Parts: sequence; C-alpha cells; structure tokens
Amino acid sequence: MRSDTRLVHAGRNPQAHAGAVNPPVYRVSTVIHPSVAHMEESGKTPYEGLVYGRYGTPTSWAVEEAVAEMEGGFRAIAMPSGLAAITGALSAVLKAGDHLLVTDSVYFPTRRYCDTILSGLGIETTYYDPLISAGIATLMKPNTKAVFVESPGSLTFEIQDVPAIAEAAHAMGALVLMDNTWGTPLFFKPFAKGVDLSLQAATKYIVGHADAMLGFITAKDEALWLRVKTHVASLGHSAGSEECYLGHRGLRTLSVRLERHQENAILLATWLKRRPEVLRVLHPALPEDPGHALWKRDFLGSCGLFGFVLRDVPKAAVDALLDRLELFGRGYSWGGYESLAIPCDSGIKRTATRWAPGGSTLRLHVGLEDPDDLIRDLEKGLRALTGGV
Ligand SMILES: *Cc1c(COP(=O)(O)O)cnc(C)c1O
Repeated sequence: MRSDTRLVHAGRNPQAHAGAVNPPVYRVSTVIHPSVAHMEESGKTPYEGLVYGRYGTPTSWAVEEAVAEMEGGFRAIAMPSGLAAITGALSAVLKAGDHLLVTDSVYFPTRRYCDTILSGLGIETTYYDPLISAGIATLMKPNTKAVFVESPGSLTFEIQDVPAIAEAAHAMGALVLMDNTWGTPLFFKPFAKGVDLSLQAATKYIVGHADAMLGFITAKDEALWLRVKTHVASLGHSAGSEECYLGHRGLRTLSVRLERHQENAILLATWLKRRPEVLRVLHPALPEDPGHALWKRDFLGSCGLFGFVLRDVPKAAVDALLDRLELFGRGYSWGGYESLAIPCDSGIKRTATRWAPGGSTLRLHVGLEDPDDLIRDLEKGLRALTGGV
C-alpha cells in the first residue's frame, strides 16, 4: 500500500469498536477483572492488554500503531507533549556518567533540559555544529551513549546529514535520537536513515489544529521500545485519551494538509527572496539553500515552517513589521491550519557555533489561507518596516 492509503487505514479496526470508523475515546483509569486469576494473568506480558489507564488504552494503542507504521518503526509510545517525548526518551537511555552530543540548533527547551536536569543527574552534554556530518566522530568519547539530531533546526533550518551522523554514532555504540517534528512521519523516514528513537511534537502537524498537546516516541525495535516504555511508565507519563483521539484524527488529513502547507510556504519563500528588505530565506526546499542537496536526498517533502533574515534594521522596525500583520498571528508553536509569525533573535541560543546571518531572523508558519492574501499581508508588514503605512 502507498503512503496515503496507509494513512487512512493505519490503527483502525471498526469491528473492534461496534463499527465506529474512528477508534473511540476510552476514558479509563480502573479496569475491573472477572477474577483474581485474570487480574494476575493480565500483568504478565508487559504493557499488553488493558491493565490500568496509565499504561495505555485502546485509544492510545490505536494512534501509536498508526504513528509507528507511518514513521516505519517497531512501536510508538504516546506522550503528554512533544517535550515529554524528548525528555522521556533522553532520560530512558542515559544514566549518571554518560555523555550526550546535541546539535547546536536544537529546540531550546531540549537544551534547557540537558543543561539543567541532565547535568544535575551527572550526564554531560556537548553541543555540536549541526553541519558536522561524519565529523561527529571526533567528538565521540568512550562514554558517549547518545547523539541527538534535529533536522532542520526549527528556528535556523540547517539540514543535518543524519545518515552520516548515525553511522559514526553506531560505530561507537551510541544511539541516535531525532526530533522529527518538521519532517513529520510522512516526509522524513527516520529508521531508514539510521535513527533509533524518533520523537514527534504531535502538537504541531499531527494534531494539526492548534488545540491539543501530544507527543510520540517511536522505537526502532522491540528491545528499545520496551526499555523506553518501562522508563516512561515508571516516570508516570500517560497521554490523555482525548488528545490521542485528536492526534489520530489529525493524522488522517496530514498528507492533504501538508501538500497545501508546502505549496503555500514555497510560494511565500520565493516571493520573500526577491524582496529588497530580505537578505536571505531559510528554506531547504529552495534550490539555493545550503541544505538543499541533503534535503532532496533524504526528505520526501517540506512543510509550512521556514525562516528569513531581514537586512539589518532596529528591533523596533522588526516589531512594527510583525505588529502590522493581520493574517499571521504572533504566536509560538506551529503546525495548525493557521499562519503564524515570530521574531527569533532572542530565542536562538548557541554555544558551539555562531548564528550571525547579518540581520534579524524571523520565522513564518504558513497556513492554509489563500497565498495571495498572505503575500498582501506580508507586503503591508514590510512597508511598516520602513515606517510606511
Ligand atoms: C513544539 C516543539 C517541540 C515540543 O513540543 P510540545 O508539544 O510543545 O511540548 C519539540 N520540538 C520542536 C521542533 C517543536 O517545534
């Protein structure tokens, strides 16, 4: 079956749910057993069957099955947020005395977790140049247990050579964890590129409507899945049934939504790069982007999220641009059906490399509106940049 067909059928079993097309919301904490023998038997195979709400329900199993199938992994674990998926996976595979390598372009809350909580547990993090490729081998130590990649970075959009990094990591016995939120389960197939644990902020494109928090950890094989599942179950994480339901429903339209997000974003990126106010557009699907060749080799598409750099202007002018926008909301997050715009300068934190593109960096999430209306909105914003109306 091709991808779009799988997306429609993944994790669905109407006959198990009185014929309902969608796996319903099971609200469960307690499970009643017909006998003590049944109760004792039910706990024997770890995390199989309904034992207690925290360990999973038919609603979470259904969406987990669908996400794992689309990413090409063994099995997924639903988590209460994307960040919980990242921190749960990192803490599952690391212990005191271990060393971790993290891309310098990483999502800031991931960095904060490494620098505060992991460091407090005696786990050392070294940040590396996102463009390091096979050169990662020079940073590997005997105690390096994991390499974290995020491609592209969600503010600066560098594409990483994930297969080359994975090869070097595996040669030294380290696991590869990837934040695959930008690629989504459709446009980047992590396990075919050497990733061991793929992490999704399903809050973004999988839910797709800016109305629920959800994350997934997908594991390459059964042993890794069981290790991580046991760890996050011990932490007490469980994703809400309503959120799992919304994630599963969102997944059904992921392909058609992404097609439009992708098309609109490329139109706007192409328009922006011709504007005199714009120094550079950060979008790996544009042929002149430094990451384009790798993106073309490894990705099956792009989404609605990209950045651009303005020619050097004061912060007040950048704020005026953003404040003038009517269709682009000024809001963090992305992946909903609606357009968003944020300033990035204060949010880009680097320690291994420098981000000095020559002007202010802005990020757009291009939604499903008509692109002509979005262009007119940006045009007004750019006029405000120079004090115009
Ligand atoms: C939003 C985001 C996350 C975190 O997801 P939440 O569901 O908000 O916790 C992680 N990584 C990236 C790249 C994100 O954009």
